Amino acid sequence: MAKKTETYCSFCGRSSREVPLLMPGMSGCICSDCAAQAYEISREYFAEKNKVKDIDIKEVPKPVEIKDYLDQYIIGQERAKKYISVAVYNHYKRLAQQNDDVDIEKSNIIMVGPTGTGKTLIAKTIARLLKVPFAIVDATVLTEAGYVGEDIESLLTRLLQACDYDVKLAERGIVFIDEIDKIARKGDNPSITRDVSGEGVQQGLLKLLEGSIVNVPPQGGRKHPEQRMIAVNTKNILFICGGAFEGIERKIALRLNTHAVGYGSDAAVKRIAREKLLHYVTPQDLRSFGLIPEIIGRLPILTNLEELDRAALRRILVEPKNAIVKQYVKLFKMDGVDLKFDDETLDYVVDKAIEFKLGARGLRSIVETIMIDAMYETPSTAKKEFVVTKEYAKSQLQKANFEMMQQMN
Ligand code: ADP
Repeated sequence: MAKKTETYCSFCGRSSREVPLLMPGMSGCICSDCAAQAYEISREYFAEKNKVKDIDIKEVPKPVEIKDYLDQYIIGQERAKKYISVAVYNHYKRLAQQNDDVDIEKSNIIMVGPTGTGKTLIAKTIARLLKVPFAIVDATVLTEAGYVGEDIESLLTRLLQACDYDVKLAERGIVFIDEIDKIARKGDNPSITRDVSGEGVQQGLLKLLEGSIVNVPPQGGRKHPEQRMIAVNTKNILFICGGAFEGIERKIALRLNTHAVGYGSDAAVKRIAREKLLHYVTPQDLRSFGLIPEIIGRLPILTNLEELDRAALRRILVEPKNAIVKQYVKLFKMDGVDLKFDDETLDYVVDKAIEFKLGARGLRSIVETIMIDAMYETPSTAKKEFVVTKEYAKSQLQKANFEMMQQMN
């Protein structure tokens, strides 16, 4: 009988009799001790590699560069893009600042504008440029402790999840709080009726916005006593808030009127079109709308987004780096099909988005409805080209409506 040859660890050279466990590989063996050590070394290596580096302001993109980047994805909204580029740049200056007498304060941002005008898109694009963890949370799900809903701290859970619970990374992230207007105080006397999703939530948000150490439930939702909490310092987290603030134009108009004393200013006010009124939004208007002054104070950068007109919607279809039309062209190209949209088809899509009052958000679903059959059929055909004419688009939408009605019956 052939004698069993002794095996050795290729790393430490000890024989199988000298180690707890020897594991064979393709051309050698590793013992459990060396494997454990290798694991430790690699863990330290990656921990060092992923360590959050100190911010070097020279490496942070300048406001003009930030705006150039935003321009590639966001059509129009020049003012908002400019404000945000500066605010973000200053935020990173703040992270890089030396400790001296002058303390640069946090520049949290609030964007006011109708839905579907690009608020979330701007925040998302900024986070992608800066390569920092990013989370979107809806303010409407937040409630005061003790009520049904999510605790305010849970909005940091999303941020932790976005970076695999790396607290150091999360502490430099960006949180976009959508629908901040929905937690505005309703009415002027909050003490009479308890306002579940109003002032209490605003008070809770305050401590997050100004910067403090917050205990975050790792799985979100409601905190419960046995749960292990993660302590997160919000001092360097940038909060960007967005809201439609429907009806705020009336407050602005009112204020402009009451302040319009003197030469011909009344006439000037009248000339401001309703949609342009948002341009003049001030912290005072947010206050009249129902945000508490402390919250407004913690959101020092206030900017507005404009309603997207026909021309802007048309550009959104084709111009951004990942424009809807470009995405469909790419999808078809992967099947070897050249996809083309007639100009009048694109105009038609825009008309429909306006007609259905869907704005930019609707463009995608309209194009999707038009393209569904073509996407279903073309991969199985020998077609090399597909032109989307207005007639085709029209018939597809009509068909979809018809189907929808059928479903409803
Ligand atoms: P908001 O947060 O203001 O409600 P979003 O940013 O979520 O709106 O916009 C919804 C979608 O509409 C975006 O994902 C994008 O496809 C499109 N969109 C909206 N505004 C713009 C814009 N200014 N430029 C390019 N696309 C836009």
